[in-house]
Amino acid sequence: MATKVKCPKCGKEIVWGPESPFRPFCSEKCKTMDFGDWITERNGIWSPITDEDLEKEEVMNALIAANNNEQQ
Ligand SMILES: [Zn+2]
Repeated sequence: MATKVKCPKCGKEIVWGPESPFRPFCSEKCKTMDFGDWITERNGIWSPITDEDLEKEEVMNALIAANNNEQQ
């Protein structure tokens, strides 16, 4: 089953995979809008994230956890 995340900017659901090159955002437009602020708000420790960071499992898990928290 594919992992899905919500676009932090507009809330649209996307599949976490190669078909979503701008993940966790739905589009390049959303990705360019303050991703650093979004992740820093929730974790308080990270500086602006890089594409390399997005490939790390711990980063992905944090993003999924943030999504789960919003759904509850
Ligand atoms: Zn979006």
